[in-house]
Amino acid sequence: MRGHTKITPSHLSRRALIYVRQSTLAQVRNNTESTARQYGLSELAARLGWAAAGIEVIDTDLGLSGQLAEGRAGFKEVVGRVCLGEAGAIFGLEVSRLARSSADLAKLLELARLTDTLVIDADGIYDLSDINDRMLLGLKNQMAEAELHILGSRMDMAKRSAAARGELRLQLPAGLVRDDEGAIAIDPDQEVQAAIGDLFTAFTATGSAYGVVGAFAGRRFPRRSQAGELTWAPLTYDRVLKALANPAYAGAYVFGRRRSRRVVAADGRITRRSSTMPRAEWETTLLGQHPGYITWDQYLANEAKLAANNTNTGARPVREGAALCQGIIYCGGCGRPMNVHYVRGRPSYECSRGRADHVATPGCRSVTAATVDPAVASCLLAALSGQEVELALAAAGEVAERRTRTVRASELAVDRARYQAGRAERALLACEPENRLVARTFEARLEAKLQELAEAEAALATIIAAKVPLPPRAELEAAVTTLGTLWSAPTTADRDRKRLLRTLIADVTILPGSDTATVRIGVRWRSGASEELFAERVSNICAARRSTPEVVDLVRRLGPVTDNATLAQQLNSAGHRTGTGRIFDADAVRLVRRSYQIPPAELLAPGEVTVGDVSQRLGISRSTVTSWIGTGLLTARRAAGRYLVAFTPQAEAACRQHIAASAQIHQQADATPPAPDELSPAAVAARLGISRDAVYNWVSCGHLPARHGAGGRRYIRFTTDVEAACRQRIALSPQLPHVKAQALQPAPGGAL
Ligand SMILES: [Zn+2]
Repeated sequence: MRGHTKITPSHLSRRALIYVRQSTLAQVRNNTESTARQYGLSELAARLGWAAAGIEVIDTDLGLSGQLAEGRAGFKEVVGRVCLGEAGAIFGLEVSRLARSSADLAKLLELARLTDTLVIDADGIYDLSDINDRMLLGLKNQMAEAELHILGSRMDMAKRSAAARGELRLQLPAGLVRDDEGAIAIDPDQEVQAAIGDLFTAFTATGSAYGVVGAFAGRRFPRRSQAGELTWAPLTYDRVLKALANPAYAGAYVFGRRRSRRVVAADGRITRRSSTMPRAEWETTLLGQHPGYITWDQYLANEAKLAANNTNTGARPVREGAALCQGIIYCGGCGRPMNVHYVRGRPSYECSRGRADHVATPGCRSVTAATVDPAVASCLLAALSGQEVELALAAAGEVAERRTRTVRASELAVDRARYQAGRAERALLACEPENRLVARTFEARLEAKLQELAEAEAALATIIAAKVPLPPRAELEAAVTTLGTLWSAPTTADRDRKRLLRTLIADVTILPGSDTATVRIGVRWRSGASEELFAERVSNICAARRSTPEVVDLVRRLGPVTDNATLAQQLNSAGHRTGTGRIFDADAVRLVRRSYQIPPAELLAPGEVTVGDVSQRLGISRSTVTSWIGTGLLTARRAAGRYLVAFTPQAEAACRQHIAASAQIHQQADATPPAPDELSPAAVAARLGISRDAVYNWVSCGHLPARHGAGGRRYIRFTTDVEAACRQRIALSPQLPHVKAQALQPAPGGAL
């Protein structure tokens, strides 16, 4: 060993650290010789004079890469011991093996210089205080680093060029295996085949990765471990995504789907992180390399569907529900997406996001789906009519023809370039090799011609690859004629309708308009064209359920002389339906009368009066009259849902006698006439805009204090406090909304 004179007693009195490491576990397993040589360094230390007790082997870094000091406890220990001045010498097989990063090594060597620690490798002994030794070590370190770089890049290049040829053996996913000759084939195991096949079928059927997981509930799914073994486990969402994203299932050979890079963590640790690259950045994509479970087109379609499902990126996938434009409708006022809200099962589009973000403009609005959807749907169906398709096909034919001409021109260019390259080659061959100057010129010319040929061929390949296949004309025409029927068929799901809509329409915008009765709808086609539609605004749910003018007309005409049940029959036989699409019954007709203030039929025979008339004339409540009809005191017949009382003078006399006799009615009677602030229940009902029944109900429940007056009448002391309490009750009551609406207009007398 050269330079052993550098070893002083001071060095020998300290420890000799033997640093042993191998980069990877494979090296530890296979390169045992190197490890043995590294351990052999302790013998060298002994020979150089260190006592056996002073020699220490540090081998905790076996199997760890030297590129980064991070995570290498052994190297850190060496550095620590050097710092403390405990080490007389550090032994390593080569200096470069101490650390493979220059920064780490430089730090160690600097510390060794400061603490007068020797560095000893198989070649010699280095005293860091000696400038020559330091330079030598620096040089060796740099050479080692260069060597590593060259080796690495050579390996990387070899790997990449093998990958570009499709020859690099990549790990196969479950469902694909290598046969005896090394070719990739479908796994012969039927269960594996079925599982993988079903995954893709389930995705086509459900349209989402979660749907696939649901379809595989209770079923196991194959996976391939790192070591290449097949195992079975339940299918998870993550694995569905991985399978759908794996191009191997589409028969493609792809290299460079993932790329790893070094990242510095917040605490200064350096780690590797691998990320998935977008398809456009894959290094090698070779299609049709081996049999697959799906076609490449299906793979692309799945990829697009997954991207459309990803709401994190702002995508708004098709959802269940009747609102056709869900997910593609925008507010023309603030530009934000509109959300679908359901009110009693009826969808409407609302600019709630604009409101939430406090950017709502006066142009922001809310529109019922019933206003927008029919207009958009008919616009879509019109675009798919036979005439439009005819035009599209003609345009496509023109494009195809133009393309054929371009391809032909490129083919001719290739032919010409090939001919010229052949000529240049023959000229070079004909030239005498001794005539160097001429030969060199010919060589240069051939080179240029070959370059031109390569460029022409590449141009041709690009044009051919850009080919967009057209569907057969007859197929398209047939599809178009059945489309209208398919669209409105009850078997067609809302989801499918929306998907169809989205294939052609990119988005729909509700444009702010000056007119409130109509809605301007902007439709942007996927082709880039746009269109503006106008739709009559269906203002609210009541309006959406409104009876047709014909029905109202008929009820107005026949109403005064026909009772509700007969009128319902007549409306039904004329083919009319209610606003909600149901057949008419007496109640439905009554609602129409109420809405349009059409009075009930005048059905009273001579001498007949209504219950209301009797109650007024006798000064008793309606319910008392009704109960007397029940007990037989009064004779009445029912017509159109009402009692018509035969109020003869005898009957009236009998009633008055009954009242006089009835202790119950007069029990709490207080004959004083009503005070100015005392109102009858009917007057209170009119004041509050609610039904009399509601007022009587409040009285009987005790919400409204009332006193019995003369003739069984009730009087309510209607102070402002009482009125306020009543109005609050109305506002809070969920059962009184329709009466609330009526409160705005005077209730038609007797129409109730
Ligand atoms: Zn808005």
